[in-house]
Amino acid sequence: MKFQDKVVLVTGAGSGLGEEIAMHFAKEGASLILNDIDQENLERVATQIAETGRRVVCVPGDVSDPEDVNRTVEMGIDAFQQIDILVNNAGIADTIIPTIEQDIQHWQKVIDIHLRGSYLFSKTVGAHMIKNGSGKVINISSIVGMVGLPGRNAYGAAKAGMIMFTRSLASEWARYGINVNAVAPGYIKTPLVRNLLSKTSVVEDKLIRRIPFGKLGEPSDIAHAVLFLSSDQAAYITGACLPVDGGWTAFGGSGDANEL
Ligand code: NAP
Repeated sequence: MKFQDKVVLVTGAGSGLGEEIAMHFAKEGASLILNDIDQENLERVATQIAETGRRVVCVPGDVSDPEDVNRTVEMGIDAFQQIDILVNNAGIADTIIPTIEQDIQHWQKVIDIHLRGSYLFSKTVGAHMIKNGSGKVINISSIVGMVGLPGRNAYGAAKAGMIMFTRSLASEWARYGINVNAVAPGYIKTPLVRNLLSKTSVVEDKLIRRIPFGKLGEPSDIAHAVLFLSSDQAAYITGACLPVDGGWTAFGGSGDANEL
């Protein structure tokens, strides 16, 4: 098992990608510290992990609240004395409506959860990693942080901000033996994307035609990338943003990616 002696903190672990990432680490022997704002989902995932025989601590809380972040890290350190890997994953979707109709409070909430949340957790966990002289931070960005999409300015700005935050932290923390990388998922089958497809103008068939691989991604596609970037095989990779998107960002057209 590749992560037997490692302690991994995953935010937004009660659903979708966070749940999948946590389960993959558990299968590879890691101990887990889990955060999510949804306590019921968080406890469901923690129970699943405990059933695999791994040690798990779950602390419900809001990633954008410094007190919740401190409490989570303190409880994790109390339980395991170390945190080796941090995955900043918690997130919410945009409303995808014209900018002039958007609500400033929702805009701020999107920025706060993704960007401020990643900043707070990285800073708090980073202090322990610096003391240990090693660590891995993985920020879950998005393809929407790499290209511009109408109506997605809060989410796009937050996710692009996470990419630059990744580079900045990578260049600052390499001296302490800490790797900081980002993963930019495309459209992956999770509750967030199911909501996007059912509640907004995004149409599934059209979306799929725009993806060179012609299908949505599986949560495990993202978990595999996160585990790779957290592994010794990625020891010399830092400051990178890895798109895991079935070719979505590689394709420069707007229509059918498989039409020559
Ligand atoms: P998801 O299934 O909705 O899971 C996100 C989890 O984060 C939910 O349990 C959510 O709780 C929780 N959360 C929301 N706000 C939080 C907060 N303030 N503090 C702590 N937890 C909070 O979504 P997902 O698709 O797995 O997304 C995970 C990450 O991947 C997000 O950062 C998202 O932007 C990114 N991403 C996803 C895709 C995709 O295709 N799925 C693509 C690109 C990037 P609630 O359900 O109560 O809100």
